[in-house]
Amino acid sequence: MSDHENQEQFEGLLSRYEPVIGLEVHCQLKTESKLFCSCKTQFGALANQNTCPVCLGLPGVLPFLNHQVVDYAIRMAIAIGATVREKSVFARKQYFYPDLPKGYQITQYDLPYCENGHLALNSGRVIPIERIHMEEDAGKSIHGDNASYVDLNRAGIPLLEIVSAPALRSPLEAHEYLRKLRAIVRYLDISDGNMEEGSIRCDANVSIRRRGVKELGVRTEIKNLNSFKNVERAITYEIIRQADLLDSGTAVKQVTLLFDAASGRTQVMRSKEDSPDYRYFPDPDLGLVQIDQARLEAVRATLTELPVQKAKRFHEVFGLTDADALQLTDEKELALFFEDVLSRVSPIVPAKIVANWILTEYLREHNNRQWTWPATIVTPESFAQLLRALCEGTLSGKMAKMVFDEMASTGANASEIIKLRGLLQINDADEIRAVVAQVVREHADQVALYLTGKQKVFGFLVGQVLRLSQGRFNPGMVNDCLKEAIHESSAKN
Ligand SMILES: [Zn+2]
Repeated sequence: MSDHENQEQFEGLLSRYEPVIGLEVHCQLKTESKLFCSCKTQFGALANQNTCPVCLGLPGVLPFLNHQVVDYAIRMAIAIGATVREKSVFARKQYFYPDLPKGYQITQYDLPYCENGHLALNSGRVIPIERIHMEEDAGKSIHGDNASYVDLNRAGIPLLEIVSAPALRSPLEAHEYLRKLRAIVRYLDISDGNMEEGSIRCDANVSIRRRGVKELGVRTEIKNLNSFKNVERAITYEIIRQADLLDSGTAVKQVTLLFDAASGRTQVMRSKEDSPDYRYFPDPDLGLVQIDQARLEAVRATLTELPVQKAKRFHEVFGLTDADALQLTDEKELALFFEDVLSRVSPIVPAKIVANWILTEYLREHNNRQWTWPATIVTPESFAQLLRALCEGTLSGKMAKMVFDEMASTGANASEIIKLRGLLQINDADEIRAVVAQVVREHADQVALYLTGKQKVFGFLVGQVLRLSQGRFNPGMVNDCLKEAIHESSAKN
């Protein structure tokens, strides 16, 4: 079934069933070194280059806690308004897998460092975040040419696992929640938030219940979703699958699923009966994680503006609409681009115009051409030159768009293009009058028609004048001069 057919079927079943979705998000922290050793964390190193006896799980070694990780974890807790536990515990989660040489993962279990946070969606709905805990990543198995390999560079890299309550009600809400989480970790500068490189991975718990029913349905868990699109697709597919089962009178089984992006389907990975018993117990090699009030306050003092606060300021200080303010602050780099451009053109160019141009013209090219941040093709300086030329009347709106197209395709500065192309808007009344007179002469029929009351003809005449000027005449002045010329010609007759 195609995604499109899924979508149609999906809208239909939403009138009968309510989806209940919770997300467990794994976020890789961008510390220099790993959680319990001093190995480097950088992406793309040679296989097993970033390893040592601790993260290789050799016998007799002792892990030691990286305090930078704890500070980053505290930042996240503060950002979602959560409670931080004064004394939390690292536990061992035992299971066997080739990419886990110790035979256990160090994580937090019943005493995580952070609980009871929340995150607000644009609709105003508040999604409770049940807990966040710190844990280490496992290594990676690579299968190919008749052999399997293990790369342990990732083993021991610090993660935060952020667990929402089952409070999300649609695949779209799940998408928005995830985007907002990613924005927060980027604003906090604790993770690059890059889903393609696996810095953010997500498991989704999905169940459905008949509208009006209180009890939760049986849930399934979809593991390791690695893109925003796949999160949405997998949850949509799973909701439809469960509704089909319930409609035909079959019970949903509690299973763990994998999503196959190629076919767009979920597949059973294991059933509840096969789910492992991890035999958690406190790691005897690590002491309690102690976070006192002083440390909390010290971290709080380092925090800069978060997306919600920035959006509020853009609305209150610059008078932007809520929708524009939310969209501009959705990504940290976009918000910084806006502020950079605005600081270069204020007060000549109003904030509203800067926001409009960035959200329409700039973002369109940014997305189509798959530009990355920070902006290097169209720099804030060049974009500021363009908007200043527009607001000072050097460029008409149409010319500004032409210049911007050329900036986007060549990477040249706005002022260079304006100079090179001789694109300055012409505000010389005599020059405009001469062309207007010519047009009035050559289109006497249309002028006569206009004088009989056919207002539309005026637009045609303006178009003729602008065409002859190759779009360089100031359109307001063309309007005035044309009215004046028609008035004079009718007085003469
Ligand atoms: Zn190591």
